[in-house]
Amino acid sequence: MKLNKIIIAIDGYSACGKSTTAKEVAKILGYRYIDSGAMYRAVTLYFLDHHIALTNPKEVDRALQQINISFKVNAKNITETFLNGLSVEQEIRQMRVSEQVSPVSTLKAVREAMVAQQRKLGKDKGIVMDGRDIGTVVFPQAELKLFMTADMLVRAFRRQREWLEQDRLVDLDDVIENIKKRDLIDTTRAESPLRQAGDATVIDTTHITIDEQVDQVIRMAISKIIAL
Ligand code: C5P
Repeated sequence: MKLNKIIIAIDGYSACGKSTTAKEVAKILGYRYIDSGAMYRAVTLYFLDHHIALTNPKEVDRALQQINISFKVNAKNITETFLNGLSVEQEIRQMRVSEQVSPVSTLKAVREAMVAQQRKLGKDKGIVMDGRDIGTVVFPQAELKLFMTADMLVRAFRRQREWLEQDRLVDLDDVIENIKKRDLIDTTRAESPLRQAGDATVIDTTHITIDEQVDQVIRMAISKIIAL
């Protein structure tokens, strides 16, 4: 029996467990996982390395034409982000990128370029994409839309632990400050601000485990798939 495929859009604040949940859900369903935040991070890395002035639209447009972002699954079955053919998976997670990614993501030209690529990636469905505007702008027709949220301190602890697992020690206050700044810019920007789609289901991950988050999403996805 061939099951119909759906699009699962997962939006929400920074460090709420969107990517971890999305990756696992994609694995279980045999869907493709796309981390849209990684795309904005890759653009930011390019802009930083090439000293692109965000206030200069021509410079931004020219830079965007030089940027090619792709994803490849590595030998450990982990999806890596590639910028112009080189893996930047580690670099895009650094604090210098985290500090600049939200200002870069406010730019209309950047958003238009990323949204066009994201829509291409989702044209055959069977995709789980996480970000800030996936259910509202990228795939307003997505069959399943989720909006994830969690208590600030829980989010900061989780993000700090992820970094510790990679032997990177980041001060908790710095993590909180970065999350708060990004949330503020992401929710107040003029171009596709982060907001809950009217038909999205809210998942508060403060008191639930990753397994519970994944179970909830899988259950919702299956009921959408069988209803098609
Ligand atoms: O998901 P992640 O935290 O890696 O995203 C990094 C940043 O990229 C966000 O804080 C936001 O500024 C931007 N972003 C966005 N739209 C998306 C995904 C990410 O503006 N769909």
